Amino acid sequence: AETERLDKVVASRTALSRREVRRLASRGQVTVNGLPERSCERRVDPDTDEIAVAGRPLEMGRHAYLMLNKPRGVVCATHDDKLPTVLDLVPEELRRSGLFPAGRLDKDTEGFVLITDDGEFAHRILAPRSHVPKTYTARLDRPAGPELVEAFAAGVVLDGRTCMPALLAPDPDDSRTARVVLRQGMYHQVKRMFGAYGITVTALRRDAIGGLALDPNLEPGKCRKLSKIEVERIL
Ligand code: URA
Repeated sequence: AETERLDKVVASRTALSRREVRRLASRGQVTVNGLPERSCERRVDPDTDEIAVAGRPLEMGRHAYLMLNKPRGVVCATHDDKLPTVLDLVPEELRRSGLFPAGRLDKDTEGFVLITDDGEFAHRILAPRSHVPKTYTARLDRPAGPELVEAFAAGVVLDGRTCMPALLAPDPDDSRTARVVLRQGMYHQVKRMFGAYGITVTALRRDAIGGLALDPNLEPGKCRKLSKIEVERIL
């Protein structure tokens, strides 16, 4: 199996720099298979060795894939001068360098945000031509009728550009709530599609990315690791 330097492996799976890792190791705070390892030149196998920092075992996967239930008021960015970001909601034990939100929700939108350090996977979800479906629930200021369902299916025109066909499914008991499935991700797209017909979206939540639904047990503001099977359901 392929081995890598201990400081590199730890730094890539935590928010620590390699220098910080070496300092912790010199104090006996980094263990490999239960034993303190003071030399970071030690090579380890990420697939089989168990590594812990200050008693906390590392998540050894090469990449992290996290599901966040974004609350309102939090921005989908890696840094913001004033507002909390989605990365601030990642618990300490799941933090590592290179995490970013794969796709953006507006500040006032809640729901499923995928957070990863896997650029290639994110690209496969986000590339305009990939057409991974995103499912939303929209709360509207007026009922959505059958003509709107048809308009969404035909492709709403925004700024002279025809959107891809989208599914609009008003709740049969309350047509001011509707499910929307988009295969594109234009700026403010859901709000603008309704806006083109004079309807205001008063609340918006993303419920699924591809075939993976937001975990109903994950409260707003909470974040958890995805299993391999869950990650595969996204694409
Ligand atoms: N469409 C919007 O208008 N806002 C979002 O946050 C996501 C999709």
